[in-house]
Amino acid sequence: MLSDKDRIFTNIYGQNDWRLAGARARGDWDGTAAILAKGRDAIVNEMKASGLRGRGGAGFPTGLKWSFMPKVSDGRPSYLVINGDESEPGTCKDREILRNEPHKLIESALIASFAMGAHTAYIYIRGEYYRVAQRLQVAIDEAYEAGLIGRNACGSGWDFDFHIHSGAGAYICGEETALLESLEGKKGMPRMKPPFPAAMGLYGCPTTVNNVESIAVASTILRRGASWFAGLGRPNNVGTKLMSIAGHVNRPCVVEEELGTPMREIIERHAGGVRGGWDNLKAVIPGGCSVPILPAATCATVLMDFDSLRAERSGLGTAGMIVMDKSTDVIAAIARFAKFFKHESCGQCTPCREGTGWMMRMMARMVEGRAEVEEIDMLDQVTRQVEGHTICALGDASAWPIQGLIRHFRPEMEERIAAYKARHGRAGLAPTP
Ligand code: NAD
Ligand code: SF4
Repeated sequence: MLSDKDRIFTNIYGQNDWRLAGARARGDWDGTAAILAKGRDAIVNEMKASGLRGRGGAGFPTGLKWSFMPKVSDGRPSYLVINGDESEPGTCKDREILRNEPHKLIESALIASFAMGAHTAYIYIRGEYYRVAQRLQVAIDEAYEAGLIGRNACGSGWDFDFHIHSGAGAYICGEETALLESLEGKKGMPRMKPPFPAAMGLYGCPTTVNNVESIAVASTILRRGASWFAGLGRPNNVGTKLMSIAGHVNRPCVVEEELGTPMREIIERHAGGVRGGWDNLKAVIPGGCSVPILPAATCATVLMDFDSLRAERSGLGTAGMIVMDKSTDVIAAIARFAKFFKHESCGQCTPCREGTGWMMRMMARMVEGRAEVEEIDMLDQVTRQVEGHTICALGDASAWPIQGLIRHFRPEMEERIAAYKARHGRAGLAPTP
């Protein structure tokens, strides 16, 4: 269990003053100029040594990503873009940083931008976080007034500007290249990668896109040292992580924990346990709706980190846990996600545009049991035609929850079909429209 002395986010519940005076009292903006004085390479190397992996879901090494930015400008400006679109169902961790620890983010954005040669950072915040964006703007204004950002930020000689851009409610705009398109004022449609944003990002310029949490932890890592951060968690899964716990728990919450902590311990210690007790648990989706569901037996032992969850054919994702007790119609729950992905597909690649519709319609019939058992395999086949055949990860994300359902809850799907047949005296086959 994480001890208080190792907590990065000490005001995550907004229990203290979020404004500049309160942030300074907690240690933010302490010695920022000295960190900048270490130089770009030293900062990037320290971030690499810390072992921090991206906190938005994919887990790509953050220091390595920073190192892809050009050391010498070819005339194009470099940009830092912070992804605050946080639209993954079951995920609300970045919101707590933005509204309760805004100065940790602004200070870290300055340091990260300096390390990557960027004088400008944008944060793309989901439109629904309206008041959150307002509060962040107050903090940005405070930082400008105090000379912490702007011209000669913190007296370092580095000029740095920080702008907020609010989204308009499209899930796909959280995908980094769709986000860049949206930021440029275009329709939010993902771009092919490569080129990755470091080579050609915002306005065709070198850009790093990082999640809010990945950036916000940087100032503390650089202040306390890479070895401190790397000493928490497990090898290749180091540090602390904000996790949100939603669904059938007694106290839904966001909590900072060490990676590698058992899922059961997190649910019981921080969220007051499963409604009706641990034995009433049916399943958990460990990291937002883009990763496969896990049955209760696995949840009893699995550790919350990238590699442990991957070994169970799921993923850490955003670490937004969705807890389901035995009252849950798990087929209906996954069908709801299928509808979500169909709705949010941008439609530019055929397997995703058509496949999400197929999956949604087949799942709707599975909820009723209005299908033949063989169609479960057909549904699985459809997911395999989408997975890995699309421009962006939304295609995979639409396929994986259904694959997880079939892997772990196939008997329940078959029972539903048998029950339909018993009720109606025939299979409920209907042509998929
Ligand atoms: P990805 O693996 O394609 O990329 C992750 C990051 O690494 C990107 O910034 C990418 O540019 C970079 N990268 C990867 N390979 C690279 C290379 N060879 N060279 C340079 N850079 C490289 O994943 P993704 O599509 O960015 O993210 C998918 C994840 O997003 C999912 O796992 C899901 O959990 C998460 N997600 C989060 C939210 C949210 O609200 N936070 C919403 C939807 C999805
Ligand atoms: Fe658009 Fe889906 Fe293709 Fe992503 S996978 S680019 S959301 S159609």
